[in-house]
Amino acid sequence: MKDRAESLLESFLETVTARHAGETEFLQAVAEIGRDALTIEKASNAYTQARVLERLCEADRIISFSVVWHDDSGNVQINRGWRVQHSDLLGPYKGGLRWSPDVTPSVLKFLAFEQAFKNALTGLPLGAAKGGADFDPTGRSEAEVKRFAHAFMTALAPHIGPERDVPAGDIGVGAAELGLMSRVWMRQAGRWGGALTGKPVALGGSELRAEATGYGLVYFTAAMLDEIGDTLEGKRIAISGRGNVSRHAARKAMSQGARVVTLSGRAGTWVAEDGFTHDALDWVIAASGDQAKAPPADLGVTFREGASPWGVAADIALPCATQNEVTLDDARALTDTGCRVLAEGANMPLTREAEAHLTAQGVLQAPGKAANAGGVAVSGLEMQQNAGFSHWNAARVDSCLRDIMCTIHEKLINERQSCCSADGQIDYRRAANVAGYRVLADALIAADI
Ligand code: GLU
Repeated sequence: MKDRAESLLESFLETVTARHAGETEFLQAVAEIGRDALTIEKASNAYTQARVLERLCEADRIISFSVVWHDDSGNVQINRGWRVQHSDLLGPYKGGLRWSPDVTPSVLKFLAFEQAFKNALTGLPLGAAKGGADFDPTGRSEAEVKRFAHAFMTALAPHIGPERDVPAGDIGVGAAELGLMSRVWMRQAGRWGGALTGKPVALGGSELRAEATGYGLVYFTAAMLDEIGDTLEGKRIAISGRGNVSRHAARKAMSQGARVVTLSGRAGTWVAEDGFTHDALDWVIAASGDQAKAPPADLGVTFREGASPWGVAADIALPCATQNEVTLDDARALTDTGCRVLAEGANMPLTREAEAHLTAQGVLQAPGKAANAGGVAVSGLEMQQNAGFSHWNAARVDSCLRDIMCTIHEKLINERQSCCSADGQIDYRRAANVAGYRVLADALIAADI
């Protein structure tokens, strides 16, 4: 027989699925939060009457637009762009822009939904949004990316602004693109202002914004280890990806005495059994094409074509690539090789089956909405700097970032009573969902007339 929580979840998911049929990533994210937050909702008359969770599943609006641009041969190219303005309950809409061929409305809706809970956990006045386009910057020339960025921002500019909606970067969108788009927005709006975060420092960006997600991930992981009386010193860490999050997480982990043993890309995984050196890391980040598959022998790195990082023995896993990158087989490989702790640098990197396996095996897991919140948190600090016409030094930003990550960790620990397994181990995933839900539900109730 089903218990009450299961029946509640089933009927809630039926309602949401009817409204968002076929949007698999979005429904996956909703199911995870519904599982953890529905019982909290049903225990409160005010939350139940306000239908909080159902309302949190509906974006305020979704803007969709075409992005037409010319490639280097003068041919017309047509892409699709979107901005999901999920909620401005806690502050201006806030969240990144992703340019990747796998971007769909479902992917952006799941990211915007997750962003609402993540931003709520930071304690900063940030609403939630996500946007992007089905454009693949890989293999495009600098001039093509610039033309695309220009066309993309021309379409999006009327919908954003410092008090309205403040996009940032994500997969495929970095400081260079954000600087260019920031300039396009300013020209169109006819004023200076921080309508985008993650800009180059020279254009009003914050120190350490590029590093923030990766550094924050390592600060959060260190707090998890501290909670069980351990440290990063000497730990073997498997990291996926080699983009912005992965590379800065790797550097910060190395500076704390950990050994980073993997990084990965679309073609396969780079393995450094004794740990990457800074030179080896630089080489992997810069390598491209077939040359990337043949690291110089003196770097202590090998390349495993087509392999994921998760078969390499590691104490800690930091998936930092993309959603659903860790499958059930990967999860089994992780536990077989002794991994005990996992913290998500990417958003929703585990498939449902992978998550269930790791949970059953007692692996401590920090969900992305807590562990990778450092990026959006420093975006929040960039907004404060822009609004105050000021510039903070790196030490000040770093200390705020560390405080925010430790405070998020503490908030989750405070949920321990209702969020732990039979053996008393904290369930960080449930704690993040419950703590984020409470912030959003209380704001929603307070805003109702
Ligand atoms: N894209 C990042 C995230 O997933 C950062 C968002 C932002 O800085 O607005 O949280």
